[in-house]
Amino acid sequence: MKIVQSFLTNNPCYKAGRKIAVKGLMLHSVGCAQPSAQVFINTFNKSSYSAACVHAFIDGNTGTVYQTLPWNHRGWHGGRGTKGCCNDTHIGVEMCEPKEISYTTGGRFTCSDTVSAKACVKRTYDSAVELFAYLCKQYGLNPLTDICSHKEGCAKGIATNHGDPEHLWVGLGTGFTMDGFRKDVKNMMNGIENIEEDLTMNQYNELKQEIAGVKAAVDKINGKMIYNYVDSNMPDWAKPTIRKMIQKGYLQGSENGKLNLTDEMLRIFVINDRAGVYGE
Ligand SMILES: [Zn+2]
Repeated sequence: MKIVQSFLTNNPCYKAGRKIAVKGLMLHSVGCAQPSAQVFINTFNKSSYSAACVHAFIDGNTGTVYQTLPWNHRGWHGGRGTKGCCNDTHIGVEMCEPKEISYTTGGRFTCSDTVSAKACVKRTYDSAVELFAYLCKQYGLNPLTDICSHKEGCAKGIATNHGDPEHLWVGLGTGFTMDGFRKDVKNMMNGIENIEEDLTMNQYNELKQEIAGVKAAVDKINGKMIYNYVDSNMPDWAKPTIRKMIQKGYLQGSENGKLNLTDEMLRIFVINDRAGVYGE
């Protein structure tokens, strides 16, 4: 997900400079056939534009997120309902809409190219999932209970009477729902957590290897070199005796074939061998 910072510094909402404690995320859709986030940024970034201000626009052509307010800045995106004002608690994100649609009345529209329009909606949906997963992590939010659409915000009594973005998803037959969206955000968050756990495992394994290396070095210094095989590590003077003992079955090693012999053991075996303890 690409995030481009493009704060609406001229917008009166930005200038008001109020902060909120983020309690939730609200998903919007712009409500007109305009896929370009830049067009909205140009309109919103004026001192004369006091109608609205949001935290981000998601571009319909590229899926790029344009962050237009600091995340904990109080936005003007969802207005007020009977039970409160979502602007006091929620980050508001607008998804841009396909150029192929044409609004008739209210949330109804016709569409000149459904395939292309659906591709645009999917781009904004996918970026919104990723952005909301990131914001849920950032603010310790539960994706299943702390995310709503503007439409749901109205039903909860914390936003004005709008139908976005479900009107677009339903109207185009995309199959997207807010319940599905919340689940996708949760899955995305689990994916991020798995990556974090993997990194920790890698770091753990690296540390384990380093410790094993240090331990081997310390053992060597302490003269506790361990000989597991008749190989180049083993002193030549000990090899004939150890080979003989293996051949005769006196030395069998551990179940994984390691002899686990120290220097002292090598010396004792060789002395015993000279004394004829292990035969010819
Ligand atoms: Zn809205």
